[in-house]
Amino acid sequence: MKRRDFLINVGGATIVGTGAMSGLLCAGKQETHKKYRVIDSHLHIFDTTHKVPTHFDDNFNGLSRKCATAEKTIEGMKRGGIEKAFLITYSAHDIARDISDRVDPDISAPVYAREYAIKTWQDNRHMFYWFPDHVDPSRPGYLEDLRKDFELGADGVKILSNFHGFLPDNPGFMPVYEMCHKYNKPVIIDGSFWYFKKFLPNKESKSRQKEAQTIKGYTKTLATVLAEFPTVAFSLAHTGTAAVISDYDEIYKVMSDHSNVTCDTAASRGYGAEWFQDLVQSVGAHKVMYGTDWPYWLDEGLDSYRKGRRRWTMITDDCPKLTEHEKKLILAENADRFIKNRVALDDNEEIKKEVVK
Ligand SMILES: [Zn+2]
Repeated sequence: MKRRDFLINVGGATIVGTGAMSGLLCAGKQETHKKYRVIDSHLHIFDTTHKVPTHFDDNFNGLSRKCATAEKTIEGMKRGGIEKAFLITYSAHDIARDISDRVDPDISAPVYAREYAIKTWQDNRHMFYWFPDHVDPSRPGYLEDLRKDFELGADGVKILSNFHGFLPDNPGFMPVYEMCHKYNKPVIIDGSFWYFKKFLPNKESKSRQKEAQTIKGYTKTLATVLAEFPTVAFSLAHTGTAAVISDYDEIYKVMSDHSNVTCDTAASRGYGAEWFQDLVQSVGAHKVMYGTDWPYWLDEGLDSYRKGRRRWTMITDDCPKLTEHEKKLILAENADRFIKNRVALDDNEEIKKEVVK
């Protein structure tokens, strides 16, 4: 057994001592980092053992492809001190609108198979929460499929509205939010506003498509949903998918106006220590969850959680304006609360939902 394997096996999530790491983190920092629990609120896995093309093959010299499997992801989480992650599953067909031309969803499907991710989740429930992301209101049986996922134990649902041709407030999603209320499940919305120049929600009316092309029009669709379902906890993936930095003005406004919304910071425009501190100042630390979009960003391979550009240590080490309490909220405690379909009013208060049977 190699030394590194030994340390991972005995140490679980808190031991970071690998051959590569020991020279990079001083002892003091290792000690400091041990006190933080970390949950990644945005992660995917893919079965890249299939020798078929994917849309992320070229990312970081192939590191994303190499590290995307269940086994490598779990290894990366353990090396990086990640206690748990929100595992989001979508099929090749769910994301077909943004797959490059050289990737055929029919041929590439085995890489994205949801069964592979579900099995990983079922075998590792102590490490993953599961968010199915297959809700296409134009597909017959989509509500029944979601109900089955909830009965299987799914922890929440993700809406990838524009990839399916819709806006988040489309009537087809309303029974989805209603079901989340009934089952006491949280909802992640990725409205993909940043893609609207590339592809529009083409199953909406022309006038709705036109209105949603402005950030004001787009955030209005979010506000409609948030106001309509106050007992459901919502998270805006990628901090609301701002296309340009100035879009955050409207996104932060809608987040501030509604107590039942939070966000994950995965792959957000402008991401960095300054941006992060500004976000917290604008919406409050209780509305921000650390998230990464693993494996799309693995600039440091399996050590990305400690050394990469979306490392969680940026929050603990490079954000002096954040208090220790705020750092703990962002790294894990807000995710703990969101997963229970609870939302924060402020640092200390929560709205507790009644479970409607
Ligand atoms: Zn993602």
